[in-house]
Amino acid sequence: MPELPEVETIARTLTPLITNQVVSGVSLLNERTLEGPLPLDLLTGRRILGARRRGKLLLIDLEEQDGAEVRGLAIHLRMTGRLFVFPAGTPPGPHTRAILDFMEGGRLFFDDARKFGRLRVLSPESDKNWAFWNALGPEPLLISGKGFARLFTGRKAAIKSLLLDQSVIAGIGNIYADESLFRAGIAPFAPADQLSEKRLLRLHKCLKEVLLASIEACGSSIRDYRTARGDAGAFQNSFQVYGRGGQPCLACGTTLQSRRVAGRTTVWCPRCQGR
Ligand SMILES: [Zn+2]
Repeated sequence: MPELPEVETIARTLTPLITNQVVSGVSLLNERTLEGPLPLDLLTGRRILGARRRGKLLLIDLEEQDGAEVRGLAIHLRMTGRLFVFPAGTPPGPHTRAILDFMEGGRLFFDDARKFGRLRVLSPESDKNWAFWNALGPEPLLISGKGFARLFTGRKAAIKSLLLDQSVIAGIGNIYADESLFRAGIAPFAPADQLSEKRLLRLHKCLKEVLLASIEACGSSIRDYRTARGDAGAFQNSFQVYGRGGQPCLACGTTLQSRRVAGRTTVWCPRCQGR
């Protein structure tokens, strides 16, 4: 699933392709791809300001318009969602679930092989009832170190399961949880409330470093993820632990362990990541 660096990269590569485009029509090819109370055709006639990211959500912002309450579109790519802009007249592919047509001729395709991805039309009124949005935790690249450490006060759950919890902190998934915990020398199953502030500050520093390095490399391409330009990311070449269970630790040579934590395959070094 695309995490913070991948969605950030998609937003950055998509923005120049869609900014100032006016939506001339919409097609919803799979009913279940649209969630929420508002229909997709409320986007018709509206000018796009650009794309940005919140957590793992991609947000397309619309120019304000008198009398129009809709302010944008949220896209949750989940497992296999992809966004590409094609020339006018390009027919939908076998996995195309929605299309936005542009007045000037382009078409924005939302392709999604597994069909877990979701689109949601945003308006201040209907967003009040969107529990996921309202519960989203802070952004790891914006929160202070001390603010980050405070998120875990009194939380007995494993540090990894809290990093994955989007209501605790937004945008982190399995890759960047395992990679940041390795770099910080913290065992993924360590109870969060037993970690000192010093170790949580170090985790925040390592988390920011790994997220920024991945954004710099245009994200990690393991399976389906591509930028909006169709390119693969390169950060998978910098993984220290993710997907490396049973192989030697790159720092100390100890065999990396693999176990399920928070329902996700978790890889760590038993020597480098003391509790
Ligand atoms: Zn090691």
